[in-house]
Amino acid sequence: MARVAVLGTGIMGGPMARNLLRAGHDVTVWNRTTERAEPLGAEGATVAATPVDAVREAEIVLTMLADARAVDAAVVESGSLDAIPRDALWIQSSTIGVAATDRLADSAGERGITFVDAPVLGSKKPAEDGQLFVLASGPEDAHSRCEPIFEAISRGHVWLGEAGLGTRLKLVVNGWILCTIENLAETFVLAQTLGVDPRRFLEAISGGAMDMPYAHVKGEGMLNRDFSASFPLVHARKDAALILEAAADLELPVMRATLEQFNRAFELGHGDEDMSAVYYASAAGAGARS
Ligand code: NAP
Repeated sequence: MARVAVLGTGIMGGPMARNLLRAGHDVTVWNRTTERAEPLGAEGATVAATPVDAVREAEIVLTMLADARAVDAAVVESGSLDAIPRDALWIQSSTIGVAATDRLADSAGERGITFVDAPVLGSKKPAEDGQLFVLASGPEDAHSRCEPIFEAISRGHVWLGEAGLGTRLKLVVNGWILCTIENLAETFVLAQTLGVDPRRFLEAISGGAMDMPYAHVKGEGMLNRDFSASFPLVHARKDAALILEAAADLELPVMRATLEQFNRAFELGHGDEDMSAVYYASAAGAGARS
């Protein structure tokens, strides 16, 4: 069992820390807004006042923060990177894109800290159930040290090779998910505009080759206008931008349109709701024409 410092106890980091505790690890947590970390204190974690205090004696540092800016603030600008013991492992699970991952891997390497790029698949519920899937990459000799951590938080992992490959696969998967959600929202709004109940669409694809569980999970939320956040729209919008940035000159017209729709829903005030609130972008478009 390891001494693990978890930086970031939001929708994902909170349950990940809880599952590490349940697995018997010695867990210290830090969160910018301390109240969000305090429930973990009652469950056996040490709640640190600063990120430096959290990492000082860690064998493993796990970051699960909003974006690259948050990771920079918590790890680099706070001085934590200098406080992490030299033989420790930094497992970076926030989705921060290719450029920031490569930069942070270099910064860690310069200080003799082993950097493992380990974004995750799965949302709030899989995080709570310890059923995430980890897309890990880093030096091969770090793999066995990561395994007890991954076992506590996930249903499995892949080890892809050098650090950065995990983030690249994460962007590929999220590109598919984000375009799918936008497509689902547009499909529902098309159905409504044509006078078809979107439930009929879900029934029509159910059980056939066109079906996917995700359409039902996210579709129910759209039908019930229940947009309580599993994956906040603001992060989906960030990921769409990271995908386009990583794709550089590659034309991705569907992804580009998807980002525009996420931007539109964000500007309509739905940033803190689930990403399926991108529905409002399509609904606003339909409203504008009617
Ligand atoms: P979240 O609930 O919004 O939590 C974000 C965390 O980042 C909080 O701890 C927040 O602290 C912290 N933070 C934000 N800005 C900060 C700053 N400037 N300095 C320090 N800390 C800062 O997000 P989440 O859903 O857990 O997602 C965390 C990461 O995992 C994101 O990169 C996301 O894209 C990725 N991810 C999410 C999901 C999902 O389904 N939710 C799935 C896979 C991957 P406060 O509490 O003080 O705001």
